[in-house]
Amino acid sequence: MRILVINSGSSSLKFQVIDSETEEVLAKGLCERIGIDGVFTYKTGNGVSIKEQIPMKTHTEAVHTLLDMLVDKEKGIAKDYSDIDVIGHRLVHGGEKFTGSVVITDQVIDAMTECNDLAPLHNPANIIGVNACRKLMPHTLMVGVFDTAFNQTMEPKAFLYGLPYRYYEKYKIRRYGFHGISHKYVSQRAAEFLGQNPKRVKTIVCHLGNGASISAVKYGQVIDNSMGFTPLEGLVMGTRCGDVDPGALEFLAKKENLDFSQIMQILNQESGVLGISKNFSSDFRELKDAEIKYNEKAGLAREIFSYKVAKYVGSYAAAMNGVDNIVFTAGIGENDSDIRQEICDYLEFLGITIDEVKNRDQAEAVKISTGSSKVNVLVIKTNEELEIAREAAAVAKQQKISCSDENT
Ligand code: ADP
Repeated sequence: MRILVINSGSSSLKFQVIDSETEEVLAKGLCERIGIDGVFTYKTGNGVSIKEQIPMKTHTEAVHTLLDMLVDKEKGIAKDYSDIDVIGHRLVHGGEKFTGSVVITDQVIDAMTECNDLAPLHNPANIIGVNACRKLMPHTLMVGVFDTAFNQTMEPKAFLYGLPYRYYEKYKIRRYGFHGISHKYVSQRAAEFLGQNPKRVKTIVCHLGNGASISAVKYGQVIDNSMGFTPLEGLVMGTRCGDVDPGALEFLAKKENLDFSQIMQILNQESGVLGISKNFSSDFRELKDAEIKYNEKAGLAREIFSYKVAKYVGSYAAAMNGVDNIVFTAGIGENDSDIRQEICDYLEFLGITIDEVKNRDQAEAVKISTGSSKVNVLVIKTNEELEIAREAAAVAKQQKISCSDENT
């Protein structure tokens, strides 16, 4: 099956076409600056590479642009639209309603719209992307793959806050956890790489990108995730604050005469390593260069980041009563060997030792712990698009089976 994977944001839309049998990426690209001017980037496995300005006033125009390119006689990878069997959409927040991937129907869109309040920056943009595809390809099966679904196995003791229970009942205020698509892919890839049965191992996945989260995956199921009701909780991130005492926020609001939306702006956009480094940068590469040369706050920001990751790893090892695999992934996790070393230095008490040479290996999957280490430490490149394509193909196959059952 040819799966078109769509990840739609407010002004950009990423896409990939993946052959679900070979898992080969046939084409991939990005529609940026939708509604502004429009920049289109496109690459295929056959060596086509394009970056050009194409006006894209709406998401529907962006989807039109990418579909036209996919069926282009010279640069395309498909004869016509019917060559695309399924579209898999990355959907950020499925609330408690969605515990797995689903065929997108009108009812699913209604249920997703009800979750908009839970992820106001992401869900409406996702729905716009879905509607644009449905408009242009009304007969193609669409599958929704939720970032919250893999985390839905958390028990109440992990997902409830110490707030009055009525707020959970009334508004579903609880921990949802995010980056589920990546946590699922990476935890399973780690087990596969090590020749383990994922249902028999305890894995901690450190997804360390601009947005960062950690999950505890016990016997194939998430038991905890550091992100919460929103993707603001947990680790110190690029620009997000992570865990903070709510009392400090009231204090700050009073001192600076700020309202809630101003406070949220500070917590989401002006905090994290950017804020700690006195606005120097949210990018770990720049922070590292600056730390060496002149900016001591850049070093402090990296230090706080590593310390926080180590604290979460320690607490998740306790939550699972042990850990077999610790996996680093995403921009920082995959690329910053110094941060990995710093984090692992805190974890010596778990019997972890790192091979310095392997820690600098750039492979898709590599074990960086030594043979004598009591815990396997790995670096695995995440692949959310492939995970979405796998989910979409599985749902499509299931759909075919149930349709043929109904017809017999
Ligand atoms: P997101 O998907 O949340 O935007 P990514 O997973 O793409 O984030 O990670 C982006 C971050 O990864 C960048 O902000 C940068 O700090 C970090 N990063 C990328 N490459 C490197 C590198 N070679 N060394 C250190 N950090 C890196």
